[in-house]
Amino acid sequence: MVASINDRASHLGTETAFTVLARAAELTAAGRDIINLGIGQPDFPTPEHIVEAGIKALRDGHHGYTPSGGVLPLKEAVSADIHRRHGVDISPGNIQILPGGKVIIFFSAMLMGEAGREIIYPDPGFPIYQSAIAFSGATPRPYPLLEENNFAFSADDVLGRITEKTSLIIVNSPANPTGGVTPREEIEKLVRGLEDHPHVAIMSDEIYDQLVFEGNTMTSLLEFPEIRDRLIILNGWSKTYAMTGWRLGYAVWPSFLIEAADKLAVNIHSCVNAAAQQAALAALTGPQDCIAEMRQAFERRAGLISRGLNALPGITCRPPAGAFYAFPNISLTGLSSQSLQTSLLEEAGVALISGTSFGDLCEGYIRFSCANSDDAIGQALERIRTWLEGHLSA
Ligand code: PLP
Repeated sequence: MVASINDRASHLGTETAFTVLARAAELTAAGRDIINLGIGQPDFPTPEHIVEAGIKALRDGHHGYTPSGGVLPLKEAVSADIHRRHGVDISPGNIQILPGGKVIIFFSAMLMGEAGREIIYPDPGFPIYQSAIAFSGATPRPYPLLEENNFAFSADDVLGRITEKTSLIIVNSPANPTGGVTPREEIEKLVRGLEDHPHVAIMSDEIYDQLVFEGNTMTSLLEFPEIRDRLIILNGWSKTYAMTGWRLGYAVWPSFLIEAADKLAVNIHSCVNAAAQQAALAALTGPQDCIAEMRQAFERRAGLISRGLNALPGITCRPPAGAFYAFPNISLTGLSSQSLQTSLLEEAGVALISGTSFGDLCEGYIRFSCANSDDAIGQALERIRTWLEGHLSA
């Protein structure tokens, strides 16, 4: 007998963005000029006052463990921020600070999934949903996000997949990888429909909630007290304050899950980096103009990308409504998403992510991130035009 890994681990998926990032870095190290429109993180530095708060925290001696769910002033600041933005009262006792929003996906799957249960999630969607669900032993049940619906979810599509085995529904608006934002009427319809299914909890991934573009509105599931006792919220600092590398996120847990979530934290990571928590506090209590500045930049670039793509042969692109991604349809090029991803990276020097990294329904799409300069986006579009003209006419 030889040592062998357990079966659950074979169900783990991955996030291709990290693989593409590594390949782009290899090509750059080999002297190639690569424009990265692959990775989903703001290209801005963390605002100065937040960095200073982190440095000060280290100097002031924030070096030890903190309570596993986060320091109380930070949980209170999250609660105050939620009150300010949504007008609802959430007790700091239901808030948990975590090393990234991503951890909340895994915790939710661990707490709500097991063999014999089903978890409903979006396709296209953030790939970690499917991976975490499969690892938990639950059966992943995707619901489609359709281009003709501007990639918003349809409440009927979600509700229609509920069975007596369903334990959790995952929703994400504004969405990765599509930039879709689901209108309020559809969210209200989902909430009303959930009244008939009291055994189903819901996890709303609101990590892009402050990146919503003109003409669209963010509706948080927090605004519906009727589902609060089974609602999990995923949010954090990564996208809103350009803090991806600090590893900070927060969950709002319903009361029936908070104790178990805290035990998972104690078992897995003990607590979040103490100085990073002080920086997170400064982010929430300091000036907020950095958010609007970044949002405006993403919105401008999303426009550049969608207009630029619509002028290319074989590509059509819906204007993104939020987050910082565009998800154009490339099916008229006649190429598969994966082969276009590979050719554009290796031959044209543009890093993008194949739609197929985001679900089984995503052949014919490719993800563009808006997290690069206007100039870089312009150059990338030119490189793609040259490559497509060379290959589609051949
Ligand atoms: N949820 C979605 C939809 C995301 O796109 C991401 C990051 O890309 C996360 C969650 C995780 O964010 P974090 O960096 O805070 O772990």
